[in-house]
Amino acid sequence: MKIICVGLNYAQHIGEMSWQRPDEPVIFLKPDSAILRVNNPFFIPDFTQHVDYETEIIVRICRLGKCIDRKFAHRYYDQIGIGIDFTARDVQSKMKAAGLPWELSKAFDNSAAVSEFIPKEEFVDVQNIDFHLDINGQLRQSGNTRDMIFSIDEIISFVSQYFTLKIGDIIFTGTPVGVGKVNINDRLEAYIGTRKMMDFHIK
Ligand code: MG
Repeated sequence: MKIICVGLNYAQHIGEMSWQRPDEPVIFLKPDSAILRVNNPFFIPDFTQHVDYETEIIVRICRLGKCIDRKFAHRYYDQIGIGIDFTARDVQSKMKAAGLPWELSKAFDNSAAVSEFIPKEEFVDVQNIDFHLDINGQLRQSGNTRDMIFSIDEIISFVSQYFTLKIGDIIFTGTPVGVGKVNINDRLEAYIGTRKMMDFHIK
């Protein structure tokens, strides 16, 4: 399986990072070795002094598809969860300044924390989902999928022009405003609505 990630999908987050609003989805990948299973601890790697959390709604692909029309895109995912796109921000800043690809900062081992999934049918409107992250019991980041620049269906349609989507692939749909650094011993609790989906520590 593969992990497809969308960058810069919430306007206020683009502002906090001083990026430009994109004309089409910004896409990068993480390998399957990046998955951090639910509630396992995240160990800060030796090559970075600054790892940020990015809390994101994730979707799981449920059928094979290529060049999917936007109006059929909703048929290609059936489950929704929450993930943390861990980012070595110091490494990313260096790559960005040099005009180089981001993978070392984004795709390293355990950089994709993934929750259990909830069937899509349980949501009245997938483009109106509240989600948030608490760190050490304090609210640190919150968002709603209505604020996405590119909707889940638009993302699926777009990426499928380039990559064949396969059953079990996961899409990280972008982070809202409020990203920040994690520190050793932090406790991260991620919620969809009021439902706790993840509870784990930084080591
Ligand atoms: Mg992200």
